[in-house]
Amino acid sequence: MTRPVETKGDARVNLLGLPRAKVEAFFSEMGEKPFRAKQVMQWIHQFGISDFDEMSNISKALREKLKTVAIIEAPEVVYQNISKDGTRKWVMKMPGGSSIETVLIPEGNRGTLCVSSQIGCALDCSFCSTGKQGFNRNLSAEEIVGQIWNAIASFDNIDRTKDRPVTNVVFMGMGEPLLNFDNVMDSVNLMMDDFAYSISKRRLTISTAGVVPAIDRMGQYTDASIAVSLHAPNDALRNELVPVNKKYPIDVLLKSVKSYLDQLSDKRKATIEYTLIAGVNDRKQHADELIEILKGLPCKINLIPFNPFPGSGYKKPSNTEVRTFQDWLNKAGCLVTVRTTRGDDIDAACGQLVGRVEDRTRRSERYIKLKQVSG
Ligand code: SAH
Repeated sequence: MTRPVETKGDARVNLLGLPRAKVEAFFSEMGEKPFRAKQVMQWIHQFGISDFDEMSNISKALREKLKTVAIIEAPEVVYQNISKDGTRKWVMKMPGGSSIETVLIPEGNRGTLCVSSQIGCALDCSFCSTGKQGFNRNLSAEEIVGQIWNAIASFDNIDRTKDRPVTNVVFMGMGEPLLNFDNVMDSVNLMMDDFAYSISKRRLTISTAGVVPAIDRMGQYTDASIAVSLHAPNDALRNELVPVNKKYPIDVLLKSVKSYLDQLSDKRKATIEYTLIAGVNDRKQHADELIEILKGLPCKINLIPFNPFPGSGYKKPSNTEVRTFQDWLNKAGCLVTVRTTRGDDIDAACGQLVGRVEDRTRRSERYIKLKQVSG
């Protein structure tokens, strides 16, 4: 099944966001053999080529034909910053004036790319600055894949046949990936394709605030890893922090995650993300409740100390408070990691990705008023 492909005021198809089945369909409609799809995909994704003339194993005639029907175009990078710790952040401009942010976190021989899936976010989690900006639109598949394409392109001195600046991808940037289901599934499939980025299923993680019907469908399209932004161990508190919980409460959510894991061919754990907010969800009682509700779910818990932003009204816990919470969970046998803050000198930490959102909701106005009152 081929969906119409979005182009930017241009009738030509942007090949950057098409997963293999769609590139093959594209070539077969042109009367070409399917292996052309693999060749062109390798040029685009593995060699970072956007000019058909550089595709030396494609005949001149086909290259000319391609130029009339297709383009290879990533979002425009308007800003790149490299943090003291090596973290890179990009601001990419989208047609219409909004912009999104993407972050790459290098760690030893790993490079984890944190991609955005929407401009802004509709979910309005109380502690997330992206949510405060309101929502503009979904990103297209090429705008999502364009983030990895641009990230790799920023390393100009690498040997692309050997060096891999991006080994892991997490959908933890701006937006709720499962509310942009089709485009996210297309980009995930492309990122995992051996003729594109070969990111393995264990190293590609879709993070969701808990859109249960989409988690239920996910297994038909991908076997990528899943992370759940839980942040609270009971519905009363989670309703406050993650309002989508009112629609899909914790027990329904965790059951859905468990069935997703059960469908996978290997033994995989879900990641439970828990942003620790001082005095809000970091007490012993919360740890006890968390241990209880996670019984029976293969998972590891990732504690994220809250990253403050102006007007949030929340506080970051101290290192001791974080360690204490971690100890409570560890003692119960939970697997717990604490996310270290990276790139905070360039505002690249969790919940600090804001880009520039032309808000279509009235939410950002409300937030600006609140910020003026609270300082
Ligand atoms: N919508 C998806 C993807 C966003 S991921 C989701 O909710 O999972 C971004 C992660 O960073 C989420 O776990 C989110 O809850 C967390 N986060 C957001 N704001 C934060 C902040 N200010 N401090 C720490 N973590 C934050």
